[in-house]
Amino acid sequence: MAKKGRILSGHRPTGLLHIGHYEGTLRNWAAMQDEYDCFFEIADWHALTTGYDQTATMPERIEQIAIDWLASGLDPERSTLFVQSDVPEHAELFLLLGMVTPVSWLERCPTYKDQIANLSEGISTGFGLLGYPVLQAADIIMYKANVVPVGEDQLPHLELTREIVRRFNNFFGDVFPEPDALLAKFALVPGTDGRKMSKSYGNDIKLADTPDDVRKKMKSMFTDPTKLRMGDPGHPDECPVFVYHRMYNDDEAQLEQIKTECEAGTLGCVDCKMQACDKLLEGVGPVMERRAELAENLDYVRKVLCDGAAKAREVARETMSEVRAAMHLDSTS
Ligand code: SF4
Repeated sequence: MAKKGRILSGHRPTGLLHIGHYEGTLRNWAAMQDEYDCFFEIADWHALTTGYDQTATMPERIEQIAIDWLASGLDPERSTLFVQSDVPEHAELFLLLGMVTPVSWLERCPTYKDQIANLSEGISTGFGLLGYPVLQAADIIMYKANVVPVGEDQLPHLELTREIVRRFNNFFGDVFPEPDALLAKFALVPGTDGRKMSKSYGNDIKLADTPDDVRKKMKSMFTDPTKLRMGDPGHPDECPVFVYHRMYNDDEAQLEQIKTECEAGTLGCVDCKMQACDKLLEGVGPVMERRAELAENLDYVRKVLCDGAAKAREVARETMSEVRAAMHLDSTS
């Protein structure tokens, strides 16, 4: 089947992925693999823009992301899974794009401002953080990806990539396509404290968790604060546990019953949480099981990344030959 286009997307290896990543991103990526030629990048250099002093654990973090991806259905037979630093051409393209990108474009980038505001005390910003969107542009256009799956909040970043492409093509000819956004509706999964699930909040349910871990976390989950004990009427629409019921239970009659019993005060929260937990484990349990098996087969995981790097480099070498020729930087060839 002819593919609709090429996609580049990725994750920074900053920690284990959780069910928010799975429901919000990984399921979408896995579903796109037949329609698009997919390149999925573990962006280790991007992780250094804020965590440049934490490289000792990088190899392990990279493997763990790869395990999360494979367990979630990213398929090396249909997609290219690779580590950014295994394709050094990204650094060359980053440098060349950096020559044509005005600093003012980078300084106005909302993520740059946010990250500076949120940096821990004592950590100074490097040039890499300011140049992050240029590296991101290099990642995307290296593979001439014409589609990038993004949420609405990421549209400004993609627009910056498109501006960089226009500027580059204006100077050196039509080398790169302008990538279009593939607007994805990302499921918002609440964490165990009711806020958005995030590893930095410590409220996440990880794909690497065991069923026992998940039960413990679900047991301690935040609920409707006005329902303190059995008999108190609850408000399921304001309760994160009910979001889980909605996500993992497609039996409308059961959902209606839970809602009615919660509102009547006849359903206890612990009971309700354990029902939600069972459904969650039915839905995500197979991913967690696959993950546990893959974690025991690191040779396979490393081979996937090694093969993926070879495939990615083949494309990257071709792109860089074109770029060097367009910029008259190929004097020895
Ligand atoms: S019964 Fe369930 S839906 Fe209702 S408040 Fe308790 S946990 Fe939430």
